[in-house]
Amino acid sequence: MTSKVGYNIDLEKRLQGSVPKKGHTQAHPTLLSSTSSSDDPRDVLQGEDRAWFSHWKPFLAGLLLSLVVVQQFPRSEQPVICSPNASSVCPAASPIAPSVHADLLKQLEISYATEGFKINSFALLGGAVKIPTEMFDDMKVPGQDPRWDVFNQLHGYIDSHFIQVYRELRKTTINTYGLVYHWQGSNPDLKPLLLTAHQDVVPVEPLTVDTWLYPPFSGTWDGKWIWGRGSCDDKPGLIGSLTAIEKLLEKGFKPQRTIVLAFGIDEERGGIVGGTGIRDYLLSAYGPNAFALLIDEGGTLEAHSDGVIATPAVAEKGHFDLRMSISTPGGHSSVPPEHTSIGILAALIAELEANPFTPHLYRNEPYFTALQCQALVDPEMDDELRDLIGKARYSDKALADLEERLFRNPLSRALAGTTQATDIVHGGVKTNALPENAFAIVNHRIAGHSSVSTVKTHIAAVLLPIVKKFNLSLDAFGESLNGELSQKTSGHLKLSDAWGTALEPAPVTPWLKNPAYDLLAGTILNVVKTSARWNNPDIPVIVAPGTMTGNTDTRYYWNLTQNIFRYGHVSRFDKYNGAHTVNEAILADAFIDLIRFFTIVILNADESKIL
Ligand SMILES: [Zn+2]
Repeated sequence: MTSKVGYNIDLEKRLQGSVPKKGHTQAHPTLLSSTSSSDDPRDVLQGEDRAWFSHWKPFLAGLLLSLVVVQQFPRSEQPVICSPNASSVCPAASPIAPSVHADLLKQLEISYATEGFKINSFALLGGAVKIPTEMFDDMKVPGQDPRWDVFNQLHGYIDSHFIQVYRELRKTTINTYGLVYHWQGSNPDLKPLLLTAHQDVVPVEPLTVDTWLYPPFSGTWDGKWIWGRGSCDDKPGLIGSLTAIEKLLEKGFKPQRTIVLAFGIDEERGGIVGGTGIRDYLLSAYGPNAFALLIDEGGTLEAHSDGVIATPAVAEKGHFDLRMSISTPGGHSSVPPEHTSIGILAALIAELEANPFTPHLYRNEPYFTALQCQALVDPEMDDELRDLIGKARYSDKALADLEERLFRNPLSRALAGTTQATDIVHGGVKTNALPENAFAIVNHRIAGHSSVSTVKTHIAAVLLPIVKKFNLSLDAFGESLNGELSQKTSGHLKLSDAWGTALEPAPVTPWLKNPAYDLLAGTILNVVKTSARWNNPDIPVIVAPGTMTGNTDTRYYWNLTQNIFRYGHVSRFDKYNGAHTVNEAILADAFIDLIRFFTIVILNADESKIL
């Protein structure tokens, strides 16, 4: 979740259920910006041609059931939260500070506040940014592609700059360049803490180099920002966690709880070598559900001078890339049929876009909780919306009205539903030759309340009328359905998983009555309230469960722990221009706070006996 918030309110009062009315009436930019309407795709199934539908019955029956069960989940069966107290929905955390290790942390905080430490840390991150560990989609496995060689340079850099880590931690390499570090704790009863990040970065588009304020792999610290590809994504996670551990080692800290670091190598293309290899290694070396909690990149905190909302992501959407391949007879284009394969493909795409997935708010999903939290603390939210969010806890009518209002905004729709985007289209080779083949690839991000099979069912149902209109034979995800057509088909449509990478939505990490969530939330509160950036121990801070619309390497880590959090303790305002684009840069002071976050979460996890 992202939100633009400013605070001039008494957060504590609000958490106690006393939400004062605000005079501010400006619409919230995150929640209310554009307009859009979406037809319910379920209506397609009520359409004119049930006879045609009967051809599909055997294939669709099972899938339809899941569609109905998942997408028509009646509101009356949703958990209704009747408490008038919003804090029962938005969990209120308390700051957690180490007690046994209080002196150690004090010493480290003094060290972290020195100019020498800061400049050294900026240089450490900058030095890692200088090593262009670019990840390309078409890279072969390590050893078969020289573009991997640069990772050797990064490993040498880590070994030579994190001396204590090199000496004290056990390092294992996975698939040549994946890195796992093991720091043995003294208490084997405590499940290890797992911190993950990735070493690779997205490539720099050569045509954009001139638009960078500093060269893309300069790693320059200009007095305020640290510049370069990877400075936001994800070398702060890599260097920040290593720096925290190096400092803890320097101070002689000996953990009770084992700490494991795992650094992937191709997260930016889906982790097919790094994430999978690390998963297999950790499962074999530590076993399933062996870790107390896992913190990876992802969720952010949104910070202003007068308040902070942090959203560690407890949920991650699923993923499905649909390939629609259409083939028709070729020939000379001077005597064409009424529709070429490209024309039919266009009709298929248009039909999908005319029938998008319907987003829904469910009271037991993290986005709903995040809205409750935002309503508690966001002074820029207008009264009507705040009231609607509150009433939606117990009123189905208010919930429906809230949906109608929120879903004018693309981000809200993406957080509450499955999205589709036609991203690749290809067809034809010559202007005087009819295109025999054409295809499109449509990317889907699957909502937590949905599934891959539901998405496939939706697609097949939506495309049925077009398939009939053009008299096509059809292979829908392996089901051949051309046996009962009355006349010769004019072409063939194949629907398939484009890359074989379909991914279900991630299991949701519990955020209520979960000691791991409480530990993380309490740590975040402490890190913010003791940060020199705000210099305000009374600053209002709230932690809300976030939802990732994309995926990280954690897509492979579901079996390692039930407590997966994607959280970077960096605000979007701490990024000069975001990630995956030109002028990637991180605010240097934010990087220091990230090191503080890793330090404190390690110490807090070490003292926690409940995980
Ligand atoms: Zn990343």
